[in-house]
Amino acid sequence: MPKFVYDFTEGNKDLKDLLGGKGANLAEMTNLGLPVPPGFTITAEACRHYLEHGTLPDGLAEEVNAHLAALEKAMGKRLGQPDDPLLVSVRSGAKFSMPGMMETVLNVGLNDESVHGLARQAGDERFAWDSYRRLIQMFGKTVLDVDGDLFEDAVEDVKRARGTDDDVDLTADDFKELVDRFKTIVREQAGRDFPTDPREQMDLATEAVFESWNAPRAILYRRQERIPVDLGTAVNICSMVFGNMGMDSGTGVAFTRDPASGHQGIYGDYLQNAQGEDVVAGIRNTVPLTELERIDKASYDRLLEIMETLENHYRDMCDIEFTIERGKLWMLQTRVGKRTAAAAFRIACQLLDQGLIDADEAARRVTGDQLAQLMFPRFASRVDGVKKITKGMNASPGAAVGKAVFTSERAVELAEAGEDVILVRRETNPDDLSGMVAAKGVLTSRGGKTSHAAVVARGMGKTCVCGAEELDVDVKAGTFTAPGGVTVREGDVVSIDGTSGDVYLGEVPVEDSPVVRYFEGELSAADGDELVTAVDRVMAHADARAAMAVRANADNPEDAARARRFGAEGIGLCRTEHMFLGDRRQLVEQLILAEGDAERQAALDALEPLQKQDFEGIFAAMDGLPVTIRLIDPPLHEFLPDLTELSVRVALAGEGADPKDRRLLEAVTRLHEQNPMLGLRGVRLGLVIPGLFGMQVRAIAEAAAARKAAGGDPRPEIMIPLVGAVQELEAVRDEARAILDGVKESTGVDVPALVGTMIELPRAALTAGQIAEAAEFFSFGTNDLTQTTWGFSRDDVEAAFFSRYLELGIFGVSPFETLDREGVGRLVRIAAEEGRRARPGIKLGICGEHGGDPDSVHFCHEVGLDYVSCSPFRVPVARLEAGRAAI
Ligand code: ADP
Ligand code: MG
Ligand code: MG
Repeated sequence: MPKFVYDFTEGNKDLKDLLGGKGANLAEMTNLGLPVPPGFTITAEACRHYLEHGTLPDGLAEEVNAHLAALEKAMGKRLGQPDDPLLVSVRSGAKFSMPGMMETVLNVGLNDESVHGLARQAGDERFAWDSYRRLIQMFGKTVLDVDGDLFEDAVEDVKRARGTDDDVDLTADDFKELVDRFKTIVREQAGRDFPTDPREQMDLATEAVFESWNAPRAILYRRQERIPVDLGTAVNICSMVFGNMGMDSGTGVAFTRDPASGHQGIYGDYLQNAQGEDVVAGIRNTVPLTELERIDKASYDRLLEIMETLENHYRDMCDIEFTIERGKLWMLQTRVGKRTAAAAFRIACQLLDQGLIDADEAARRVTGDQLAQLMFPRFASRVDGVKKITKGMNASPGAAVGKAVFTSERAVELAEAGEDVILVRRETNPDDLSGMVAAKGVLTSRGGKTSHAAVVARGMGKTCVCGAEELDVDVKAGTFTAPGGVTVREGDVVSIDGTSGDVYLGEVPVEDSPVVRYFEGELSAADGDELVTAVDRVMAHADARAAMAVRANADNPEDAARARRFGAEGIGLCRTEHMFLGDRRQLVEQLILAEGDAERQAALDALEPLQKQDFEGIFAAMDGLPVTIRLIDPPLHEFLPDLTELSVRVALAGEGADPKDRRLLEAVTRLHEQNPMLGLRGVRLGLVIPGLFGMQVRAIAEAAAARKAAGGDPRPEIMIPLVGAVQELEAVRDEARAILDGVKESTGVDVPALVGTMIELPRAALTAGQIAEAAEFFSFGTNDLTQTTWGFSRDDVEAAFFSRYLELGIFGVSPFETLDREGVGRLVRIAAEEGRRARPGIKLGICGEHGGDPDSVHFCHEVGLDYVSCSPFRVPVARLEAGRAAI
């Protein structure tokens, strides 16, 4: 039978699965010799049993008996003993901290008898009755589901009668009266008396903590924070110490360093003559922790000493809860503290300098997501007249400013007129997509981090604050109201901060983050910005450790140059179709409409020099580094006018319609596809439209030859998209090789070029061994591979049902955001293995959006890819994660 109960002396900080974070760390502190009130922890495993079966596991009661008896013996008093009661707290504590989500009951063991014993022992009637009323209040609320406001109202009542608004002015008699009133409230609301048996109190509180795991707000919190649903919570039974025993007592919270900046110092709050919950509840005003030095120097010094011990022991910033009982300091909780992204980098480097951690550990202490946060544009300092009006959930980071609009139509209209807009809705739905695309940012009053607005905005990289519940949005009236009588009308400028969730009325100026200026080379590590220096150090170490290279997806010289500044070691995906837009559309139209070889060749001949120019620019920007160029991929009708629009134009013109329009319409109709994603595109174009791929290959070869002749070092890699069978690749490869040889002969310049393929269809992955015979490299196109593996059309499904899928837990995160290891990842593994077997040393990379996603980068490292490629802006994130993956 498993062991369900651990004394604080038996556990340690690595037993969080079993003891929860709080219990594991209480044990750790106990074993460090720190002053922790004795107690024991009932495991999360017992909780899981209780939640599954509705009963406590066999043997638990006996174990609790034994541990309670030992605790009573150590403390020299029994739980609730009438003349001198042992009191305990019953505290929840799961593996992951869920602040304020679950329950804790203090002062368990008090009743009508033991309250007198406590008063006599403490020599303080008021304290004893205050503790007793707190027990009934917390027990009533937590265990018996009584509405907490009823208790609060009763307290207010008594305060009013005494003419005060401070708890400190209440007397022992006032608290006696409150005890009576509270008991009545319990009887009326719960239909039972407040239990006077101390052990019954403890057992009922334990079960209530177990049950609080499944409270709706806890479920919601877990979903948002992606905490597994089935962990359960441990329960800590901890002997009470009292911060409410007079002015020489108190309770407080502290950080071992500033969680915002990382700077060392004294950060925390203290409250005299108070019990734990008072600090967080904000009932009375706390004083800064530095004041404790004046109030109680000995405890203050001891606290600083303990904080240092904890930092050195955990080798990290910790946060703590403590209580002082008549001049004696007690530690009630510690854990590695949450921190901002900036503090994470700073603290990692500070600890590195202190010799507490090594460089590997420093890199482990930060994440790519944190780095990405530091790279978003941010609001500059606030300006006069700009008022923070509310705070919602930070659903998608960034800083956005614009005129408030309430419908998608208005968003699109104003955006087309060149205005910046913020789309404000109660919640969004798929019909709002066009408005979301047009807006600089999205603000909703409903829904959490998995709401439609949040999911879609994150997918688009658009700033979003959701669930700002204090806002009352009236779409019909075109207004929303915020607390304090603020009304915002359409056209009023608002600023939203997707990183913090803050919403402002007025324009807050936006600026580039110093971290981006550092990557751009505008700021250097030597300039003295502590954050920049920290980022620089961590990045240097990550680069040194990384097994994979990071390349960028870029298709013009400017993006290529930026990617290079950001540390890209080449281009993993240069999309050539972007080079056919704008003025060149005309030429593509000619190509498609060509009647006969001569017309078609003329169109291709016109395109070729333009393409050559494009490639020369990119080779120059990436001189000495590989540039993977993908031959044209999308269906050609993407370059033609819209079918409906054109039909209308031709129909309206009637007899007088332009003959060219008629021909166009005919072509558009002919090329129209039901499922363009699965239609005539990729390698299929190369095989069907004579000369198209050939023109591109020639342009690449000639551009490379020209660069080389001019003293450059171009390194082209020609990539064939959407291959499903090796025969497709062979045909295109043979044509490409012939052209490459031809250019070599005609120019007299030899530029080695690789010819390889994308792996983006399941069939390609499953026949990768054959395909590798004809391919010198593979690049996993995981966007299409995800679409074709799941049968999802990315453009259609994300807005349509992904928020529902996330709610149902079908996946925890969109497979377009983080690579689906089980399905798509399996195909990648198969292809990588078979590819290597057929062609040892074959170069393997990934060029889907996943290349910049931290979890997916780790996957690519595990599979042993040679590089990941992502958008230029994500390159630093991918570098950091490639390094972390190798540590
Ligand atoms: P949470 O996880 O919400 O912080 P805790 O279990 O830590 O809940 O307890 C709530 C408050 O009660 C905290 O301020 C804590 O320090 C205080 N507290 C818990 N147990 C004791 C105890 N045995 N003696 C004194 N105060 C306690
Ligand atoms: Mg706590
Ligand atoms: Mg593709």
